[in-house]
Amino acid sequence: MTVNVDDAFIRRAVELADLNAVRVALYQQTHDPQIYELPMAAQLDDAQRELLISKTVDWLKDHASSEMPAEPDEAELRTLMNLATKEEMPDLEFNARRDLASFKDYPWTASWTNGKPALPENFRVAIVGSGFSGLAAAVQMELLGIPYVVLERRPEPGGTWTINRYPDVRVDTISITYEFSFEKRYPWTEYFGRGHEVREYLQYISKKYGVLANTLFDRDLQKATFNPDSDTWTLQIGTPDGTETMEVNAVINAMGTFANPNFPSFEGMDSFEGQIIHPARWPEDWDATGKRVAVIGNGSTGVQIVRPVSQVAEHVDVYQRTPQWISPRALYGDPVEPEIRWLQDNFPGYWNWWRYMAIAGLFQTHGFILPDEEWQAKGGTWNAMSDGLRDTLIAYIKDQVKGDQELIDKLIPDYAPFSRRPVVDNGWYESLTRDNVELVTSPIVRITPTGIETEDGKIHPVDTIITATGFEVAKYVWPADYLGKDGQSIHDFWSKDGPRAYISMMVPNYPNMWMLYGPNSQPLSGGTGLPIWYVIWAAYAAQCMVKMIEQGKRRVEVKQDAYERYNEALDAEASKTILMQKIGGIDHNYYINHEHNRMQVNAPWYGPEYHRMCTEVEWDDLEIS
Ligand code: NAP
Repeated sequence: MTVNVDDAFIRRAVELADLNAVRVALYQQTHDPQIYELPMAAQLDDAQRELLISKTVDWLKDHASSEMPAEPDEAELRTLMNLATKEEMPDLEFNARRDLASFKDYPWTASWTNGKPALPENFRVAIVGSGFSGLAAAVQMELLGIPYVVLERRPEPGGTWTINRYPDVRVDTISITYEFSFEKRYPWTEYFGRGHEVREYLQYISKKYGVLANTLFDRDLQKATFNPDSDTWTLQIGTPDGTETMEVNAVINAMGTFANPNFPSFEGMDSFEGQIIHPARWPEDWDATGKRVAVIGNGSTGVQIVRPVSQVAEHVDVYQRTPQWISPRALYGDPVEPEIRWLQDNFPGYWNWWRYMAIAGLFQTHGFILPDEEWQAKGGTWNAMSDGLRDTLIAYIKDQVKGDQELIDKLIPDYAPFSRRPVVDNGWYESLTRDNVELVTSPIVRITPTGIETEDGKIHPVDTIITATGFEVAKYVWPADYLGKDGQSIHDFWSKDGPRAYISMMVPNYPNMWMLYGPNSQPLSGGTGLPIWYVIWAAYAAQCMVKMIEQGKRRVEVKQDAYERYNEALDAEASKTILMQKIGGIDHNYYINHEHNRMQVNAPWYGPEYHRMCTEVEWDDLEIS
């Protein structure tokens, strides 16, 4: 696309931009004291806003350049980060966030201490899965020059983004944060990339960074057996023609959390004469036009599906078991304007600080998680921040359903926000006000051949049932199995109270094996966006391998007592958080392992603290032999 970059174009670009990112990028370039003194964008008065815009436009007229800025030194970086959010950053936070602006080529990755040593003969790593985290691990292996193979059960890279192909599937965190920091200034066409674009992005990454050439498709890991004599893993792999085996020195399991759909089992389901569709198995040629459709579930998936389906279906029943806190996102669904694309490519530092500011929105989220007893004694529900958000979200619901009291009563959750995964609105509330959409809250009793019967005795006729009922997240690495040092199945090892790991990655007796996005891995709050974590977890595994190889050893494993200590501390920390409380709506929350009543998906720690744990390896907790 060619654009006419005249003064008016540049001005439009700056006006459309994130003015906080503009402010920091311009200061980085000019050290202009007037820019330094400006407040955060939301507090700019008209004169200050005009000063920032006009100074930026003037600067760009003379200095626009596609050069990436060099990484600032530590003091300068600290100044810029403090300037970005107008707060002094203590060391813990500074260290966790210093690479968010991504000036380095490969932030957070691991490297050799003194150049690459000779590797043990035939040393090779298997990476299971080629979604976001598998690609992060593969790029890390590329950087270290460690031979690896990616085993992917599907015929293409992209993981969950190749599986979920339902209408309106897209990221619900802005793409500038949902991308790898080593791939600079990717030209997303929409602010929140659609599913196919994320798929293309991951294919592009796989090809560009050399991963594709090392990926075996249609390879489904079934079983991995550790051989104590050789310190290797023997992998049994399903192929289109049967099975094959492979011997590797280490395994990075990057199967993700959403690999196994949760297929509900309602009475009478087999008798249904219409079609039942799980969004993760979306039929390519299915068309909702003129159909009577039931959508069961109002998680992130169900909420994305209802609007496009209701626009063409004859009728849609939306089955809500538990109300969700569903909130809007600025720029959701909007194309990235040519002006912003130009700015990203020609204003050195803008892309970096835009990333930083987009992620900075998550810095304070830990405040939602922990209680404030004083606030509660004064009649508050959880804490001021949480209760304030609750009021804002209730106002949003009322506005979206145009004051329809019957709907409002059904839609307001009785638990606090931020205790479940926030759901992003894709016109879901508004769709409920359509004449052809009905919100059904009476529980489902059974499926009949032609409809759904609910507890209130009604039968709702339908010809298609969409089960947006989520994933079996507690089934880590499943259906594959790992047999450890003593031959024990990892699923048996976990049978006491569900999957656990040391810092979400390592399990004692399963040496040279790491999980990415493993049990209790997802930062609960104060985090920094998942793609960053995939790189961090991959780098943790890499640091372990680097140390092992540099010491001339063959095996690295977590000590049993370190694993137990970590998990005790984790349970104690988890118990303080809102997720484990009644007011956190614990009964229906996929972050919780309901069978064992414990936090399953999240790392309960304050984000920067968890970042420290995942980046500064406690070598005393590991045994290298
Ligand atoms: P989910 O959040 O687990 O939601 C499942 C929904 O199905 C819930 O409303 C649940 O009700 C309902 N449900 C499950 N079993 C049911 C049953 N037997 N009867 C009635 N209702 C039932 O799953 P999801 O929506 O697929 O989302 C999973 C995760 O995938 C998200 O949290 C997110 O991390 C990711 N995701 C991301 C995006 C994105 O970035 N754009 C999009 C989609 C998904 P209860 O609440 O009562 O359990």
